[in-house]
Amino acid sequence: MTHVKPQRGLDAIKPYVPGKPIEEVQREYGLKDVIKLASNENPLGPPPEALAAIERALPRLNLYPDGQSYYLRHALAEHLGVGPEQIAVGNGADGIIVQVCLAYLDEESEVIVSRSSFPVYDIYTHVMRARLVKTPLRDYGLDLEAMAGAVGDRTRLIFVCNPNNPTGTIVTADEVEAFMSKVPDHVLVVFDEAYYEFVDSDQFPDTLRYIREGRGNVLVMRTFSKAYGLAGIRLGYAVADPEVLAPLNRVKEPFAVNLLAQVAGVAALKDEAFLKESVAVNHAGRLFLYEQFERLGLRYIKSHTDFVLVEIGPQATTVAQMLLERGVIVRACGGYDLPHFLRITVGTPAQNARLVEALESVVLYSGL
Ligand SMILES: *Cc1c(COP(=O)(O)O)cnc(C)c1O
Repeated sequence: MTHVKPQRGLDAIKPYVPGKPIEEVQREYGLKDVIKLASNENPLGPPPEALAAIERALPRLNLYPDGQSYYLRHALAEHLGVGPEQIAVGNGADGIIVQVCLAYLDEESEVIVSRSSFPVYDIYTHVMRARLVKTPLRDYGLDLEAMAGAVGDRTRLIFVCNPNNPTGTIVTADEVEAFMSKVPDHVLVVFDEAYYEFVDSDQFPDTLRYIREGRGNVLVMRTFSKAYGLAGIRLGYAVADPEVLAPLNRVKEPFAVNLLAQVAGVAALKDEAFLKESVAVNHAGRLFLYEQFERLGLRYIKSHTDFVLVEIGPQATTVAQMLLERGVIVRACGGYDLPHFLRITVGTPAQNARLVEALESVVLYSGL
């Protein structure tokens, strides 16, 4: 029992509900063989080069990590063709979102996000007691015209999730170009490119170009959690003008990126074979799922990521629960304002087959 009240910003927060961990489902349902296709993790495991680097670093765990992540920032800079002063790293891309909100928001600010987009933007906007402005989806994708149209004097941030989680759609280079020509210089546009490596479209924007050209109101965010197979180690990064990054540096935890994450990140960037394999397995798996959803008469949204949004209907949450009881964890999308949909991570061929088998039995036998 406590009489101590949390700060007022928390009243507005819907807590983030993560996908259930495998161990929990095994315990709750007495199942041995459980697969998780709920959090867009890499089904191939971590990159071998990163594992080797982590092992080599273990004897140094008594020491604090480099607070500036010197080698990691330099490796990223070389990888991306920007300067190391244009890179900031964080405890996951989530950590970057926290840094951006701490650095740029207060009670006077407004933040523009899309409906049915990544919920972590909402949480930290509320923590800072800023006002959240949500624009509607257009054809299950972000409506950049509506987002630009929502800008006012108080707008500080716009989060453009591209590709968008949970719909898997992209906004194109032309759309982004038109959008950027409308957004005033006092608004920081955050492009969240967590799924960048999976995109297969020549229409996808080269947002780093804005930063190379010296735009002072663009920040691009990416992560090692998805294609790079390192969700458990927590590592993400931001690319922006050094003046945009300076406030992030002032608010960040002194050692936000741990020592193992730093060496794993450097090694993962070198493991090109792993990245290539991840993208190839995902691409083939995505096509397989499309084919199977069509066979089952289920509508889906074409995706540029390692997950697919599939329409089940009013029973989607029940179907997710029935899949859980069969040892397959997927994400019901009620919390994303898409209550008729499931978001399913593309797994290995065996996992995809198991998902389809379970989904087919649920859809057939429950008369849904
Ligand atoms: C997974 C995800 C993140 C978070 O990545 P972490 O680096 O694991 O914190 C950020 N944005 C989007 C859109 C994501 O899907």
